[in-house]
Amino acid sequence: MTPEPAPPVRPALTPEQEADLAQRAVQARQWAYAPYSKYLVGAALLTVSGKIYDGVNVENAAYPDSICAERTAAVKAVSEGEREFLAVAVASADGGAPCGSCRQVLSEFGLDAQVIIVNSDGAIVQRTTVRELLPQAFGPSNLA
Ligand code: ZN
Repeated sequence: MTPEPAPPVRPALTPEQEADLAQRAVQARQWAYAPYSKYLVGAALLTVSGKIYDGVNVENAAYPDSICAERTAAVKAVSEGEREFLAVAVASADGGAPCGSCRQVLSEFGLDAQVIIVNSDGAIVQRTTVRELLPQAFGPSNLA
């Protein structure tokens, strides 16, 4: 097994940046479309350019066509030219962690992005990184 390269040194978010992202994720929950699961999720994603993209889960009557908040935010960011993520905050009622699909999609644009998991009150329940959430990730280097 090839050892993973050391993660690049990234400045940690300031407490203000972290609080702002957490608050935006909580606020985004109001736009979640989750009539089936009733599990409202909001995300706020910070890119290297300093822009923040929010996202919500958008469910569909054809259940598998639903998409999570984190991937919504990621797709919004990438579709506007962003290619590198610094951090993402994810808010849900119980402070649930990103699902496997979201971990994979986030890893494409920021294996070392910080992940801030908050509950619906905006309280931070976990600070981690995409790399920690998805060890031994399959990524672009596998296809080089
Ligand atoms: Zn997900």
